[in-house]
Amino acid sequence: MSQDPYDLLGVDRDADGDAIKKAYRKLARQYHPDVNPDPASQERFKEISRAYEVLSDPQKRAAYDRGGDPFGGVGGFGQGAGFSFTDIMDAFFGGGAGPTQGRGPRSRVRRGQDALIRIEVDLAEAAFGVTRELKVDTAVVCGTCHGEGAAPGSKPVTCETCRGAGEVAHVQRSFLGEVRTLRPCAACRGFGTVIPDPCRECSGDGRVRSRRTLTVKIPAGVDTGTRVQLTEQGEVGPGGGPPGDLYVEIGVAPHETFTRQGDDLHCTVTVPMTAAALGTTLTLPTLEADLVADPDDTEVETEFELEVRAGTQSGSEQVLRGRGVPGLRGGRGDLVVHLVVETPTRLDPRQEELLRELAAIRGEEQPSGQVRPSQKSVFGRLRDAFNTH
Ligand SMILES: [Zn+2]
Ligand SMILES: [Zn+2]
Repeated sequence: MSQDPYDLLGVDRDADGDAIKKAYRKLARQYHPDVNPDPASQERFKEISRAYEVLSDPQKRAAYDRGGDPFGGVGGFGQGAGFSFTDIMDAFFGGGAGPTQGRGPRSRVRRGQDALIRIEVDLAEAAFGVTRELKVDTAVVCGTCHGEGAAPGSKPVTCETCRGAGEVAHVQRSFLGEVRTLRPCAACRGFGTVIPDPCRECSGDGRVRSRRTLTVKIPAGVDTGTRVQLTEQGEVGPGGGPPGDLYVEIGVAPHETFTRQGDDLHCTVTVPMTAAALGTTLTLPTLEADLVADPDDTEVETEFELEVRAGTQSGSEQVLRGRGVPGLRGGRGDLVVHLVVETPTRLDPRQEELLRELAAIRGEEQPSGQVRPSQKSVFGRLRDAFNTH
């Protein structure tokens, strides 16, 4: 695991204070020991807390950006210097991890986690939008206890260790003198109550897993990595808390004809030498053609005409404005057609005779060959650009 505080929090180098706070808040909710008591999570929580302490302090952050030791001189919380996690959550979020204000037992009711699922769509679906049915497995409110966590007919009872306060006092000696801090009660995990008879359906969590079908509208113009947010379609929280969001991450499958670069589409069209010399018009399928199940559907343009001018060179390209992919924020990219001129092979005697005659007329029987500095064609550069992806 990297010790770079930016990596630890998963933020960009130029993230502002709000973004850093948001990232920390999100990770703290995921890893803080009240939620995730296993030792690896506790270690991770300490790391992200230290990272946040560096990045939230303009001076420490600047020192780190100049190449300083990120955690040099950073004592304090996260390393167990006497502050409980509740203290941290209070200090950062005013009112702590739970919805209760100030000190006291925290609520069992919390917001559910966000969920992420990945789906693959084809290029035409990504370009023009599609509606998909998705099967999602998420936590829903337990129907037996309605999120309470207690078996029907029973109730949570006041914790005897903390007498319902949800926290117990710890006194610690430090260089500051005696520091008295309140820590979440271990017996009730800070809730102030215990459930003597947990619901058997959900083991007291208030939630059960359930599979359901969702209809998701993928907007036109998405690309690999685009996330579509479905508000409150994630899992419900513990104790029947409000659901998190569901994110659908898009992956676009490669297309056999078209390659996408941003909002532009690229394809390669091969024309015979004679057609390139004489000029011709080709009829080619559009990307939209992929969407049409019925070939008689006249709503969609399934073909486009490409004018190949007389004297077209191999490696040249033609740009068809507005025939690319619609942008997520409007507009539409271009279609770039790369032309490859095909030299005939396996000539029969008559064809060879005609070509020799043509060569003679054009004075090309003994061509000298023009030597020019080596230069990558546009097509070659483009191919290189694709290959780096
Ligand atoms: Zn239940
Ligand atoms: Zn307690």
